[in-house]
Amino acid sequence: MIIEHENSKKININKFQNDLISWFKNEQRDLPWRKDQNPYKVWVSEIMLQQTRVDTVIPYFNRFIEWFPTIDDLAEANEDKVLKAWEGLGYYSRIRNLQSAVKEVKEKYNGEVPNTPKEIAELKGVGPYTAGAILSIAYGIPEPAVDGNVMRVLSRLLSIWEDIAKSSSRKVFESAVRELISHDDPSSFNQALMELGALICTPTSPSCLLCPVREHCHAFFEGVQENLPIKTKKTKVRDVQLAAAILTDPQGKVLIHKRSNKGLLANLWEFPSVEINHSLPSDREELASLFKETHQVESKLDKIIGQINHVFSHLIWNVMVYTGSLSSEFKEGTDWKLVSIKEMEDYAFPVPYQKMIIQYQEFLGK
Ligand code: SF4
Repeated sequence: MIIEHENSKKININKFQNDLISWFKNEQRDLPWRKDQNPYKVWVSEIMLQQTRVDTVIPYFNRFIEWFPTIDDLAEANEDKVLKAWEGLGYYSRIRNLQSAVKEVKEKYNGEVPNTPKEIAELKGVGPYTAGAILSIAYGIPEPAVDGNVMRVLSRLLSIWEDIAKSSSRKVFESAVRELISHDDPSSFNQALMELGALICTPTSPSCLLCPVREHCHAFFEGVQENLPIKTKKTKVRDVQLAAAILTDPQGKVLIHKRSNKGLLANLWEFPSVEINHSLPSDREELASLFKETHQVESKLDKIIGQINHVFSHLIWNVMVYTGSLSSEFKEGTDWKLVSIKEMEDYAFPVPYQKMIIQYQEFLGK
């Protein structure tokens, strides 16, 4: 069958499917979540792969499945342990949503991931892409799984000039997949599109000469593959200046704080930190009083042991890291603990604070 997509020229669908799927079957990477098509594992891998590179995800995925091999294990797990398993992956709302969705699956669907678009889309954190990925990969249902990667590939293949940064464009690409997808093997088809985007039709300098579907590609024939996709720039990220203090008690234990259960890095652990609006206060006493005002912690700040820059999607943290000591006796509570460096391993810290732990260990080693 040959189709003419509303945004594109003609394409021979059967041949396109065959070329794409045979390439995928021969060339696909050996990834742990491809070992079987268990819907829970597909789900976990797809959530981890949002915003995170495959190489980074592999060890996290293996450990996560070792710790929480089934839906029941994850549903019943302690939140601190779950956050610990996610520590360093970032975008922590992903794991909070995954755990609450898994609880719902356990209670409402008897532990079986639902296999209808409607039910699956109602689960927390499961957007259209993840729903399509689970339905097609695990259940063989011909649903589109369209993310930025797939939009890039399709915009080139079909010469679609919609702005992929606009959420309204997704529908255009989903309808293109609905026309193109193999009904015999939707799982391989969707994975092949993703794999093509990861290995061949990459964001810059696509490897068209190695491409298994080059003969179907309109951008290649028009010589515009480098001009697609159209993607307008995101709004500018905001710079935030912070000071963090690694404060010790007379026994050398370090004060850590659990962040609020709302907002950025919710429920993760940190060293007490304060936002500095303009420039660093000129002396340490002034800074210590800022810590007292913000956290009710009395301290004496000592050395600056490092500076951390960390980029989030919408802001950049520039953190000045201090050591110091607690100047009054400190009472631990649910959100405040005094721990040794070894004991810190039991708490989930976001990446910038993990870097501070390394800086502190280096500092102590000196
Ligand atoms: Fe992408 Fe080039 Fe293949 Fe077209 S020919 S799909 S632009 S890699």
